[in-house]
Amino acid sequence: MSEPILTIVVPCYNEEEMLPYTVVELKGLIDEMVREGEISRQSKILFVDDGSKDDTWKMIYKETIKNEYVRGLKLARNVGHQNALLAGLFTAKDMSDCIISIDADLQDDIAVIKEFVRKFKEGYDIVYGVRNKRETDTFFKRSTAQVFYKMMKVMGVDLVYNHADFRLMSKRAVEKLERFKETNMFLRGVVPLIGFTTTSVYYDRKERLAGTTKYPLKKMLSFAFDGITSFSIQPIRFVLFVGLASFFGSLVFALYFLSLKIFGDTELGWTSLITSIWLIGGLQLIAVGLVGEYIGKIYKEVKHRPKYIIDIDAFNVPMSIHKSESDKEFSLEHRALLESN
Ligand code: UDP
Ligand code: MG
Repeated sequence: MSEPILTIVVPCYNEEEMLPYTVVELKGLIDEMVREGEISRQSKILFVDDGSKDDTWKMIYKETIKNEYVRGLKLARNVGHQNALLAGLFTAKDMSDCIISIDADLQDDIAVIKEFVRKFKEGYDIVYGVRNKRETDTFFKRSTAQVFYKMMKVMGVDLVYNHADFRLMSKRAVEKLERFKETNMFLRGVVPLIGFTTTSVYYDRKERLAGTTKYPLKKMLSFAFDGITSFSIQPIRFVLFVGLASFFGSLVFALYFLSLKIFGDTELGWTSLITSIWLIGGLQLIAVGLVGEYIGKIYKEVKHRPKYIIDIDAFNVPMSIHKSESDKEFSLEHRALLESN
């Protein structure tokens, strides 16, 4: 087999502080690997700008002009980490033999990318990057992540422990991934469903060099909740179970209250009554809410909305003026950028 074409997909959301380091590091790595004859010269780093509000896209765009290894993809708006990643994977697959996804903050050790490629050459279709330890993460992040994995396990979702979205996928694995049509794509859960031969490579996770986490608590919680509800119906079963338990529980209580009445002690308080009303009311609301959550998911799925829309695919600029979804979107600003270089 001749050297494989590798594409490294990097989703970026407001990463202007981090990007200069990321570009240098990844470029250096690609250079080295090409020199060592590990990968093809046609290998690329594909930066996906997920509708950033800062200068992320400008920086990416300039790099595509300066550097033959850099390709830029600008999404029409912010669609979130997972969808940005998908945009990158599906765009990259046509021109690569294997694709690696990594976060822009390079918290994941890029040194193991060589190991990924070695495993790919050995015949693995999917290689997971797994963190050895998470000492550099805050205690909070570490423990919430821990709870998340435990919960997913209880819910019966098969996740690779301590693996985030740092992985290599072969072209055919990404092609198969494209056949998963769900809108709520939770990659860590879906990728193991593809099958093929897989393996893991271990590394130490580092600190974010610059910029801040794009996953504040709110996003983290919604990510975890989405992860659970797109993969498991255990929560609904649990609600049903609680509902049944409280129903039978209240039957026992009713018998007890009845017996109190029959045996003369009728000083039954208002408290017990009001408590049970609140209790049952609460349970019902939880149940309805959860069912609603799943119905919402179904609603989203049946619409089959596109997961992302590509605005600009900056590729081999300026040798070939890249195509945009519509010519209008290839705005004056980008032309000016191109000319200024
Ligand atoms: N990201 C993105 N879209 C978003 C949020 C984040 O593309 O809406 C990217 C972000 O730029 C980074 C990666 O997803 O490359 C992971 O984000 P971050 O490092 O902030 O998350 P953490 O490592 O703190 O979980
Ligand atoms: Mg990070």
